[in-house]
Amino acid sequence: MALFPTYNRYDLAVKSADGTIVEDINGKKYLDFGTGIGVCNLGHRHPAVQEAIENQLNNYWHVSNLYKQPIQEEVAELITENSPGDSVFFCNSGAEANEAAIKLARKVSGKEKIITFNQSFHGRTFATMAATGQEKVRIGFGSMLESFAYATYNDLESVKKLMDENTAAVMLEVVQGEGGVIPGNEDFIKGLATLCKKENILLIVDEIQTGIGRTGEKFGFEHYGIEPDIFTLAKGLGNGLPVGAMVAKQEYAAAFGPGSHGSTFGGNPLAMSAAKAVLTTVFASEFLQDVMETAHYLQEQLTEHIKPLDFVKEIRQKGLMVGIECQTQATHLVPKLMDKGILVLSAGENVVRLLPPLTVSKNEIAKAVMTLKDVLQKEEIML
Ligand SMILES: *Cc1c(COP(=O)(O)O)cnc(C)c1O
Repeated sequence: MALFPTYNRYDLAVKSADGTIVEDINGKKYLDFGTGIGVCNLGHRHPAVQEAIENQLNNYWHVSNLYKQPIQEEVAELITENSPGDSVFFCNSGAEANEAAIKLARKVSGKEKIITFNQSFHGRTFATMAATGQEKVRIGFGSMLESFAYATYNDLESVKKLMDENTAAVMLEVVQGEGGVIPGNEDFIKGLATLCKKENILLIVDEIQTGIGRTGEKFGFEHYGIEPDIFTLAKGLGNGLPVGAMVAKQEYAAAFGPGSHGSTFGGNPLAMSAAKAVLTTVFASEFLQDVMETAHYLQEQLTEHIKPLDFVKEIRQKGLMVGIECQTQATHLVPKLMDKGILVLSAGENVVRLLPPLTVSKNEIAKAVMTLKDVLQKEEIML
């Protein structure tokens, strides 16, 4: 094994994938309700995305950001025309997008402190590890980037207590993903946006998991009627090609002038071609209506078959982002579900997380829910 043992890998070696289906090297097929951790939002090898990448592959692959690349401008416009943001910086991952947001917030405000939340997840670089409100991701790495403070999610008073004259920004996920699929309360998120405006503190929303249609809106913050000063994207943006983006209001653009920030691969044309196809598909009229209908069907199925189980404590859902809080650790349920042909994720301690493709069919949902019921029922008996 020539790889770092960074990941606890399951015993599944992938051969190919198409739509909602992943096939392993033994020919076993799985329903993918994890989508590569919320990445392949349009399913594997979505035809429009595949065609766009193939076309770009025959055009050019890389020239650097020393030259104008119209495809970057097209993708940036798709984002800004469909969001409160005005200026886009492209990078290659979620952590990099948050890294850019943190740098920008410090630069435009001239302040340092950034308030984030317990159970949050913002990435694995030094800045984003410091931003992440989970002790376990920081262990062994020595001193952290300073001036992060962690408030309690869904508790506005806890944020107020941490705000001071050195506070540059508050950064949050509107649904905490890795933390256990915990949706922000409406009062909390709205109150936070109002508070930030009043105190002249930037509001950064990490939309890396919730963005690009995942919650049934283009971006998760739309559910709350708020407009962040800065938001970040990655995961679903390239449907499998690595791409991230940091999006900000016009007034902050000048702070990232030449020499202030950059990325060799950021805005790579292959990734841009994928992102353009993704955004064109997801933002097309009716697409998100269909997602909401699919989400509603999933909710009905879960309410009928999963919620009544004693083994299940709570089901939390925002669009096609679902957390099933169980009585025991979720990590050991994942391989059991895998055995039965369905790929899911865990989140937090006891949460089975479902992130199916936005294009998932009702049949696939029904099948996955019955498998889930079967496995969870067996767990219930063993409890
Ligand atoms: C996955 C994730 C990240 C980190 O993204 P990477 O591409 O792995 O760096 C950051 N924030 C949230 C909310 C995420 O879900």
